[in-house]
Amino acid sequence: MAEPLKETNITNLPNNEAVASVFDQGDTFREQLTPMMKQYWDIKQKHRDILVFYRMGDFYEMFFDDAVKASEILDIALTKRGTVQDEDIPMCGVPYHSCQTYMSKLIRSGFKVAICEQVETPEQAKQRGGSGTLVKRAVTRIVTSGTLTEDNLLSARRNNYLCSIAFSKGDCSIAWVDVSTGNMQVQTSDKSNIISALQRLNPSEVITPQTQASWVRDMSGFEFEVLTPMPDSRFDPKNSLERIKETYKVKAIDHMGAMTDSDIGALGVLIDYIGLTQKGKMPRLSMPQKTTDNGLMVIDQATHRNLELTSTLRNERKGSLLDTIDRCVTAQGARELSNRLASPLTDDQKINTRLDQVNWFYDRPQALKTSLEILRQCPDLERALSRLSLGRAGPRDMKMIMVGCEHALSLKNMLHAVIDDNKNLDTHTPDALLSDIKSLSTPDIQELIDELNLALKDDVPFLARDGGFIRNGYSSALDEFVSLRDGSKRIIASLQKDYIEKATLPSLKIKYNKVLGYFIEVTSKYADQAYNYYEGDNPDNKFFIHRQTLANCMRFTTPELTNLAKKIAESDFRAVATELEIFESLTEKIMQCADSISQLSRSIARIDCHSALAGLAQDNHYVRPTVDNSLTFDIKAGRHPVVEQALKKQNDDKEFISNNCTFSEGQRLWLLTGPNMSGKSTFLRQNALIAVMAQIGSFVPAMEAHIGIIDRLFSRVGAADDLARGRSTFMVEMVETATILNQATKHSLVILDEIGRGTATFDGLSIAWGTIEHLHDINGSRGLFATHYHELTVLSEHLRELECYSVAIREWKNDIVFLHQVVQGSADHSYGIHVARLAGLPKVVIKRAQDILQRIRKGEVGQNVSVMADHLPLFDTLQAQIDPTEQITENQRAIINRIETLDPDHLTPSVALDILYELKKKS
Ligand code: ATP
Repeated sequence: MAEPLKETNITNLPNNEAVASVFDQGDTFREQLTPMMKQYWDIKQKHRDILVFYRMGDFYEMFFDDAVKASEILDIALTKRGTVQDEDIPMCGVPYHSCQTYMSKLIRSGFKVAICEQVETPEQAKQRGGSGTLVKRAVTRIVTSGTLTEDNLLSARRNNYLCSIAFSKGDCSIAWVDVSTGNMQVQTSDKSNIISALQRLNPSEVITPQTQASWVRDMSGFEFEVLTPMPDSRFDPKNSLERIKETYKVKAIDHMGAMTDSDIGALGVLIDYIGLTQKGKMPRLSMPQKTTDNGLMVIDQATHRNLELTSTLRNERKGSLLDTIDRCVTAQGARELSNRLASPLTDDQKINTRLDQVNWFYDRPQALKTSLEILRQCPDLERALSRLSLGRAGPRDMKMIMVGCEHALSLKNMLHAVIDDNKNLDTHTPDALLSDIKSLSTPDIQELIDELNLALKDDVPFLARDGGFIRNGYSSALDEFVSLRDGSKRIIASLQKDYIEKATLPSLKIKYNKVLGYFIEVTSKYADQAYNYYEGDNPDNKFFIHRQTLANCMRFTTPELTNLAKKIAESDFRAVATELEIFESLTEKIMQCADSISQLSRSIARIDCHSALAGLAQDNHYVRPTVDNSLTFDIKAGRHPVVEQALKKQNDDKEFISNNCTFSEGQRLWLLTGPNMSGKSTFLRQNALIAVMAQIGSFVPAMEAHIGIIDRLFSRVGAADDLARGRSTFMVEMVETATILNQATKHSLVILDEIGRGTATFDGLSIAWGTIEHLHDINGSRGLFATHYHELTVLSEHLRELECYSVAIREWKNDIVFLHQVVQGSADHSYGIHVARLAGLPKVVIKRAQDILQRIRKGEVGQNVSVMADHLPLFDTLQAQIDPTEQITENQRAIINRIETLDPDHLTPSVALDILYELKKKS
């Protein structure tokens, strides 16, 4: 038996450490607490670094430092509960019914929350220890960011990974699982690749050996809140192996693939941690899959961020490539696409298998449309299945399974019909698609759908304990209790009628509340009459037994009503208990089909992903790329997918200008010059994005595209500092450049935007110079290099494989027009001052800058810029010459231009109003 993990092993979460300080007090302190606070204290001692939600009635309460910290974060009132050592005990609480909102806020702030529930009723406590006995409480779950399963705490469109990293005998492994779907994988790698895998997975929580936590943080850039350090001994492969065998109920793990000691350590800790946080309730975990990073395009974190693949530099999904290309209509499809984007493939066959499937839908617009219509109705089966396996599900999760499986069957039938219709045509349905279609329904799932259809009502409640979700006729036992309960309710109605007539009490009503149960109520006007009513000869033998007098009514009961109420309560209780039993047995039946459902759900994800990409390609005129193992990179009329869509949305008559990009033998590097704002960065990025899209198996925004597999993609674009890690902007730039020069191969694609910009001109120029030569002579990669150092263009005369390109502009009436066209040759100006004017820099500064530039260009000052100060007019003099009305911004200029084109005599009032709105938007 593997030694179990203890709660106290979860330590060192910096945020929570501060919270735990008061709990350092010893037994003397404990002795001064009330019995209830002692119970709390004992539980808290086992969860020192975790916030404890202590259940009291309809609230979860927090005490001491937990309360202080939580009330601050949740912005709720801090009160007190009694005193200890003459000091108030701080307390705050959140209602049980809305606790998830509060919990998610705490989790997002980096905390873990232990849910401490009452595990017996007050009656059971009384039976156990007499009246006044405290009800038992225990932690039933530890909620952490990496182990969430609730839909409202998770993002439907991305996986929520819990990762662990283990080291053993020079090996290093990373294991990961999404507890909400149960998929578990492991990978052995060297240390640097582990970090890039970590960055690719973007986990919510990472378990690391205590001694490696700082290294992981430094290398990955993850915040400490994301890390959960564990004692190194927990990663021991021996203990872990036992844990894996127990979990999967196997005697050996050979069938899982060749696992190293570090693989076993990483998997074992993951399983341990899930067991600990779920308090022994294991979710359904897939058999661990061993993967390698050989087949994936390596994209380091800087490149991932710079290219804004899944989120923008402002950390928003909107505006990222993922946001632009994600047309998936199911949550599992969206997660599949997001994972594909995080790890593009490098195996041309696998890529083409994906492309074949996108192509199949692309060629069949009607099938595509119908598929998406059916898929849109498919709920998130994987997450419902995981909640069912954890005992955290309700009838709605069951209904989701039923509805999802039904729609999967319709999808299967529809796709089969399309394949049959096309039989005579010379078209081929990819085997991978056929296999996905096959998994959409299996005999066991069919049986399950029938059973669930028989059992579940059309409308079901969220919680099983509310009852009322099983159809009449499904269980005779249940029907009996329900008819007894409902029959009794009818008897109560007739009893009320009876009493009204018998005692001539027109206002009499039989009502129900939680405190009194069923009771008879009469208004004050008839209270005396009811109170004194009797049957037979004896006036002392009152018929109605008094229970309560309120301001405007009096309440009674009768022995008959008490009996009936008891019967109703019993049948109600039994009906709910029977429904809960049925719920359990249906859950078991679903879990027996779990493998088939999980397979079905993955097929849905892939079909959704392929059909959504086909829809995207149709709507935006993307083409299927040719992907092979060559070193070719040939894009004809390529476009930037995100900028293109943004321009479309702006509805500004601005079209995206497409451009070619070709690397071939003898021409592997492009040096791109051109004015500011001409589109250099856009061009660089668009080619990297086209490569990524092609290698995830998507069509691409171009007229033609041929891509020889790219093993690693590097990009250094824009400037950002990383002050938290003690790195200045220039330092970050140099670290990223160093990574590229050390790792890029001839199969890599390198995008370098304005290297060496963050330092003195000549230092920057020299670094850029050396970098290009290194890429050309040593790395041999394909690469695009944008720069404002026009001096670098002379390099094309010395470096055989370097070619100069520039982005064209047209000079017009002292102004420039951006053509956004990439042409052969080099630019000699950056037109920076022109762009500065468009941005609204004060006219006086622009004038001064133009003056200075002119003098520098004329060579008046040689290398000594400081002597220029002697030759220029005083700034004040210059300022006096400026007309303030001339200082207009780019927006203002656009508004003026627009107004100039208008002919007011030919505008209708409604068109004029529209134009007014348009101008207001531009201002
Ligand atoms: P800088 O040198 O100042 O960094 P840049 O040359 O890199 O500028 P970008 O940032 O790529 O210029 O482009 C500026 C803007 O021009 C973009 O935000 C986009 O709106 C527009 N743009 C770029 N390329 C195109 C294109 N091919 N078609 C249409 N608009 C474009």
